Amino acid sequence: MSVPEPMIAGASTDAAAGPLRVAVDPDICQGHARCWQVCPEIFGLDEEGHAVVAATEVPPELAEKVQEAMDNCPERAITLN
Ligand code: SF4
Repeated sequence: MSVPEPMIAGASTDAAAGPLRVAVDPDICQGHARCWQVCPEIFGLDEEGHAVVAATEVPPELAEKVQEAMDNCPERAITLN
């Protein structure tokens, strides 16, 4: 009997659907840097403190942290598909 994978809201965990992809909308991002604090492996900051994505494809082991970063973004600027 297999143990189910943790579900990520709004994102498919179906391996056939391919890797999760993360993006930050630069028109919405206000530079709170919460994403970077939660998951510096994926999020960086530009010279103005706005988020940049270092890797659009999210490794499975970082999916939970990216989800947490997304949940903590006050502007809802992060999307995960
Ligand atoms: S937490 Fe959201 S608004 Fe703040 S830097 Fe990250 S993406 Fe931008």
